[in-house]
Amino acid sequence: MFLSDLDVASVENLLTFLDDDPRQIARLIDHTLLKPDATERMIRQLCREAVRYGFASVCVNPTHVPLCAQMVAGSDVRVCTVVGFPLGATTTDDKIRETKTAIEHGATEIDMVINIGALKDGEYAFVSEQIAAVVAAAHAGGALCKVIIETSYLSAEEIVRVCLAAQKAAADFVKTSTGFSTAGAKVGDVALMRHTVGPTMGVKASGGIRDYEAAVAMIRAGATRLGLSAGVAIYEQAAALALGDTELFMRQAIALAEQAVAHGNHPFGALLVKDGAVLLTAENTVHTEHDATRHAEMNLVSAATRQFDLKTLATSVLYTSTEPCAMCAGAILWGGIGTVVYGCSAETLGAFTGSKFVVPSRELYARAVRRVTVIGPVLEEEAAATHRTYWSTHTPWQEIDNATNAY
Ligand SMILES: [Zn+2]
Repeated sequence: MFLSDLDVASVENLLTFLDDDPRQIARLIDHTLLKPDATERMIRQLCREAVRYGFASVCVNPTHVPLCAQMVAGSDVRVCTVVGFPLGATTTDDKIRETKTAIEHGATEIDMVINIGALKDGEYAFVSEQIAAVVAAAHAGGALCKVIIETSYLSAEEIVRVCLAAQKAAADFVKTSTGFSTAGAKVGDVALMRHTVGPTMGVKASGGIRDYEAAVAMIRAGATRLGLSAGVAIYEQAAALALGDTELFMRQAIALAEQAVAHGNHPFGALLVKDGAVLLTAENTVHTEHDATRHAEMNLVSAATRQFDLKTLATSVLYTSTEPCAMCAGAILWGGIGTVVYGCSAETLGAFTGSKFVVPSRELYARAVRRVTVIGPVLEEEAAATHRTYWSTHTPWQEIDNATNAY
């Protein structure tokens, strides 16, 4: 009664779900920050990202539960916390108390660590009873319970035994790892866990899952939930997959950048694409218009917001030969454009121009309330080649020299 349809979905259904839209992987992710040095600012950021990307939950240490409950209120994001973490070696009473407190503070998912030493000692009854006690406390408070078995310490036989114990104890999930041991989730262990518990429990893979491919490998093995901290990067990879061929449009953006140079301007080009069709193109016109704000993306956003409604803008993709500067990233945000794909990164451009004012667009968007999905770099070498040629013979312009007050 605590599990959602996704928590117990079959491998086949989950793969179809991701085939429809790879970005839906967000709904399987517990957006995790369990580091001891996590600050309030980092936790607030985690919550904003979870709401923005639609992650299943935020997974945090107990001290952060009240703040998270407040920050994700009104969204579908759940608050998950850990009990007996990360060693699992506290007493049953301690684990029950921690569970109750976390639920009082607003947690709705409890990830408890088993007593690993007791399992190694063969005290299966004790391990099972402890799990049952925590599960009962969680369920009494309306929270679901995941059982962290810490696979890196266990033999295959121990994995099977503890999974059966968790199932007998009415736990909702079995989970591979704390992320604080010698290794994280392994595909073979996840498959063994799924095989052991069958289709009616959730399986959570956690620890060391850093990209979309690794995440999908865990899902193929039988995981229905993924505990990881790279959720935003994985979402971006999924968004790139959903877009399909990004290189075709990136080559057009690079061609526009070269065209801008031929017209006497800086090497930047951009285009707006919706459902695979080009809506608009633009290039840098800083010199020819004697206007320092006429970057390619600014020109594009100005033209686009005059012509298209908000829905069209939100579902379009802006391709730009170079990662947007702070001004253009702002314009894209205010313009309501949903996705940006860039070629050359701001950092690489900075290396050519010598600019020290480099603001990666993801940093800027991380602070925004609305989601702007950033994909890139795409074809960075091709995109950078234009800059390499141009800036070897032109003086960088971004930083005004205070002494001469000149560009
Ligand atoms: Zn710009």
